[in-house]
Amino acid sequence: MQLLSGLHVAKTIKEQLISEVALLKSKGLRAPHLAAILVGIDGASQTYVNSKEADCKQVGFDSTVFRFDESMTEEALLNKINEINLDNGIDGLIVQLPLPKHISELKVTQKINADKDVDGFHTINLGKLLKGEDTFIPATPFGIMMMLEQYNIETSGKHCVVIGRSNIVGRPMSVIMSQNTQYGNCTVTLCHSKTQNLEELVKQADIVIAALGKPEFVKGSMLKRGAVVIDVGITRVEDANHPKGYVLKGDVDFNEVKDIASAVTPVPGGVGPLTRIGLLKNTFKAYQKLINKI
Ligand code: NAP
Repeated sequence: MQLLSGLHVAKTIKEQLISEVALLKSKGLRAPHLAAILVGIDGASQTYVNSKEADCKQVGFDSTVFRFDESMTEEALLNKINEINLDNGIDGLIVQLPLPKHISELKVTQKINADKDVDGFHTINLGKLLKGEDTFIPATPFGIMMMLEQYNIETSGKHCVVIGRSNIVGRPMSVIMSQNTQYGNCTVTLCHSKTQNLEELVKQADIVIAALGKPEFVKGSMLKRGAVVIDVGITRVEDANHPKGYVLKGDVDFNEVKDIASAVTPVPGGVGPLTRIGLLKNTFKAYQKLINKI
């Protein structure tokens, strides 16, 4: 069984980005700049934003985090987004989700200039993804594609079963895997909570992408021998024996599948680090778009 290490791939891509940014700076150009808006004090969201800031610093990007109180109005947030949209010194903008209940996520994602939408959640960018046009691929599916490419996983003509249909992971993933591209060309089945014969479908899969948020859902007995298994899930599961009081679990029962699959991503250290790279690469792309425009 081959362990598909996201940490390993992320390190290689980060080194490439570091050199590219150093080259820009040596030419007197400014660094790519990612802005993040955080509304409220959700613990997980703060951790995510902090790690995005740290990633930017590591590769030499500038980053700015705009932190606002939970009580911020929708109008004030939309105005702030507009201000950043017009700022030629900021290339990419993410608004950390979830937002407080009184703010519409749809209005917020639609307000971000599609050319700065490095999360790839704007309808324009999702539409382009559907049509196979150049766009910002949402970070997690983008990270998974980098993993398939780096490990040269054969996808053409394979049956890929994606479990989970969220707009940020499962659905875009299913679209990408079905496209007529080198790391696409799969026959794709998209499963969700109403799928009736899920085990039967997973058993037919050459590639399984599990993104449902149910710890250790995919068991060894569900897989075809030799399947490639991509585990997107990350759930904190209480564990009194661990110093943090919890452990991180994927959607795949790693100990069971490791003897049946031909390749598996671990959790942690699999898809997670590449999701972070996906955002950096999208920010770099947004930078190039903006620099070419002004
Ligand atoms: P989500 O929005 O909660 O969507 C979960 C999807 O799984 C839904 O489509 C749901 O179906 C489906 N589902 C739930 N229970 C199921 C079951 N028993 N059988 C089949 N399908 C089922 O989750 P998400 O945001 O896509 O995230 C999924 C997991 O990936 C979470 O653990 C999340 O933490 C993790 N994640 C990891 C990364 C990373 O960087 N590694 C990035 C993003 C997310 P319905 O549509 O029918 O409800």
